[in-house]
Order: sequence, then C-alpha cells, then structure tokens
Amino acid sequence: MSETIFEKIIKKEIPAHIVYEDDEVLAFLDITQVTKGHTLVIPKEHVATIFDYSDELAATVFSRVPKIARALQRAFPEMVGLNILNNNGEQAYQSVFHSHLHLIPRYGATDDFGLKWGTNNDHYTAEDLKALAETIRAAHEEA
Ligand code: 5GP
Repeated sequence: MSETIFEKIIKKEIPAHIVYEDDEVLAFLDITQVTKGHTLVIPKEHVATIFDYSDELAATVFSRVPKIARALQRAFPEMVGLNILNNNGEQAYQSVFHSHLHLIPRYGATDDFGLKWGTNNDHYTAEDLKALAETIRAAHEEA
C-alpha cells in the first residue's frame, strides 16, 4: 500500500482542521471547501475504496455520519441541505486513494456544488430492469 496524504493527516504528520475524532474515525475540513464546512469523513484503517470495506468497518464509519451531519447543521443554521458523496476510482473522480465520504453542506441553488443527474427511463424497459436486478442479486457474495 502506498501512503496517501490522509495517512499523514491521521498520524498528525501534516495539519488538518479536525472536526471529529475517535479511535476509528477522523473527520476534517476538505482543503478545497466546495461549500462552507465541506468535511471529509475517513476510517483510520486504510481502505482505498468502498469495495475494500469489511461490514464492521463500514458500520463504524457510516455510524458517525449522522452526528457529524447534525454538527454541521447546528454550526451553520443557514444550511438548507447536505450532499454526501463517495468517489471510487479515477473515472468516478477519486483522487485520494484512502476512502472518504464528502459531507457537502448546501446553501442554495447558487452555492458552488453541482451534480449532473441524467434521466434515462426511456432507455430501460421493465424487462431490462428485471434482468439488471437479477444480475446484481446473483453477483452478491455468500453471507
Ligand atoms: P476525491 O477527489 O478523492 O473524492 O477527494 C479528495 C479530496 O481530498 C479533495 O476534495 C481534496 O480537496 C482533498 N484533499 C486533498 N489533499 C488534501 C489535504 O492535504 N488536506 C485536506 N484537508 N484535504 C485534502
């Protein structure tokens, strides 16, 4: 595993503006501040992407998200929403390969966050969707 900048932040080798920390999870301000309060939530254990989490690590990290989200909401009462984003792979805009969740507070239609959300209903019949769901169900790992 090659070390990412986030391992250095976890080890306090480089500074970060920490907003939450416990033994397993760290949350700190994203340096780019897409919107005010833009926060990254990361596991201290190294996992590169969502595909690498154990169930336990996922439960640990995701369980912290609502309380950090509520802290943002209390800190910035003018917030009108929150996007939670997790990029996996270069094509999906991941640039740091230590998994992280972006918590991006929203302040209105003209704040500096945007998302392209295509609508492709016309391209899929009910049969297509049934087949897709079957393919995904068949691909699940054994419990
Ligand atoms: P990704 O593109 O991988 O989903 O997001 C990586 C994020 O890490 C980017 O939003 C970027 O601004 C942030 N980032 C990169 N280097 C640093 C750093 O040294 N400190 C902090 N606080 N954030 C960083």
